[in-house]
Amino acid sequence: MKARKVTAAAAAVLALSVSATACGSDDKDDKGSGGGKKITIGIKFDQPGVGLKTPDGYTGFDVDVATYVAKELGYKAGDIEWKETPSADRETALQRGDVKFIAASYSINDERKEKVDFAGPYLLAHQDLLVRSDDKITKGTDLNGKKLCSVTGSTSAQNVKKEIAPKAQLREYGTYSECIDGLGSGAVDALTTDDSILAGYAAQEQYKGKYKLAGLKLTNENYGIGIKKGDSALQKKIDAALTKMVKDKSWEAAVKKNFGPANYKNEPAPKIGDIVK
Ligand code: GLU
Repeated sequence: MKARKVTAAAAAVLALSVSATACGSDDKDDKGSGGGKKITIGIKFDQPGVGLKTPDGYTGFDVDVATYVAKELGYKAGDIEWKETPSADRETALQRGDVKFIAASYSINDERKEKVDFAGPYLLAHQDLLVRSDDKITKGTDLNGKKLCSVTGSTSAQNVKKEIAPKAQLREYGTYSECIDGLGSGAVDALTTDDSILAGYAAQEQYKGKYKLAGLKLTNENYGIGIKKGDSALQKKIDAALTKMVKDKSWEAAVKKNFGPANYKNEPAPKIGDIVK
């Protein structure tokens, strides 16, 4: 029954997003500053605390970072059109020019840098596990032989296959919220992705007391703002915006507002260009 509810919510979110993009998306210019120009930005729609579409609008740390950056580029909040960019679609969305930039729990790595460029980083997260409260998993290799859920096109899924637990039975879905259903029903033993994302799910009313984070810090995930490859002018502008966001304390305020409710212990603001391996 629970599983059903989540799926229905996801479907509603999807329906909303379709209608939201259907209206007024023809003005996709990126000149900025006045003139009613719009900017299209890629985020996640189903990650509480990070990027979430709600009936009242969009919330999450990535949304706040993106809004700040857009403002520095000359766009008001009302000029922004939000587009859902699931993990597997991010590079393509940038290459096609569907979005001007992406702020969607998007880790900087060499493989992705062959296709897109990144500004930032603006957050350091770590891969972790969401498990049932009574679970005894204490390390990554405990996952071998276990049923694990993650998302196609994510570093989380890749890391499991390559390093963390190559013998885990990994299921890959399109979004993390789909994985949650399986955790409740017992179809999967754990959901793996960044702790920043998992904390948001664990804090949801319907999951409180049922699921917990294992707290393993399996990897370093340096979140960057994805942009089209070769656009170094935009990269410089976004880097400057992120630096300013940290300096004027808006970054800290966004962290508190979005991660505070989930009790997520974030790392300090990273320095621009400083990738933690
Ligand atoms: N940060 C990781 C990634 O970029 C996992 C989260 C996500 O899939 O968005 O792949």
